Amino acid sequence: MSRAKVYEDFGKSVFIEEMLEAARLMSERGWAERNAGNMSCIIPGSDAARYFDPDQVKRAFKLDLNIKELSGMFFLITATGSYFRKLKIDPAKGLGVVRVSLDGNRLELLWGFENGAAPTSEMRMHFMGHIVRLKKDPNHKVILHTHATNTIVMSINGALDEKAFTRALWRMHSECVVVFPEGVGLVPWMVPGTQEISAATAQKLEDFRLIIWPLHGIIGTGSSIDEAMGLIETVEKTAEIYIKSMGLTELPQFLTDKQVLDTAARFDLKPKQGILEL
Ligand SMILES: [Zn+2]
Repeated sequence: MSRAKVYEDFGKSVFIEEMLEAARLMSERGWAERNAGNMSCIIPGSDAARYFDPDQVKRAFKLDLNIKELSGMFFLITATGSYFRKLKIDPAKGLGVVRVSLDGNRLELLWGFENGAAPTSEMRMHFMGHIVRLKKDPNHKVILHTHATNTIVMSINGALDEKAFTRALWRMHSECVVVFPEGVGLVPWMVPGTQEISAATAQKLEDFRLIIWPLHGIIGTGSSIDEAMGLIETVEKTAEIYIKSMGLTELPQFLTDKQVLDTAARFDLKPKQGILEL
């Protein structure tokens, strides 16, 4: 006689706990005004089997892009319009778990998005980004987007193209070249939520784990929320140092390019070529 499988409560899982904590941090730091920001995280199949009945699809969302590369995979993703500062009040409303259909044209809802909620309007960027990052790193799991204030201010300096932005960060704070020796990617300003910004961001994610959206925010990726958040925190903290250093009356003493290179060598890291001027 077969017994019905009992599924664990996903609402009490570490996946929800970590995402709520990330939302709280972004909100408290002022990076998630109103409904700003969005997050997604891959849920490994072995974990999904503990929490979800694969036959209990609550709703489906038709996609306007094909993501067959991700078919059968499970994602925890934030809802469109969700307020990060209120996410913890009702996580099953602001978050949802979707499985990518076998043909890659639909998302099948297995948990959350109660009261008719739907995935974030930036979901194209998330799914296209996951496809690219998984090819680069099989341990990749997380994409976070937030409106990190100082990074936005630093992006207003139009003289900072991608290379100059990376070099400025590396020379402003000794840890930077160690945390992101590949540098940071920067896309031109584009309308949010569009196919264009999603494609441009995915293309940059071929070479970088962190992308700047000028006059808008930042995208961090990684094998965990801690890793993606750690990248964002390091860039944002350094952007704050950059802005504060602009007000100094004495000539600022930044790290020289050689000091940046020496720091990277100490950790056996090779900074991306073509950034430093040696
Ligand atoms: Zn945004």
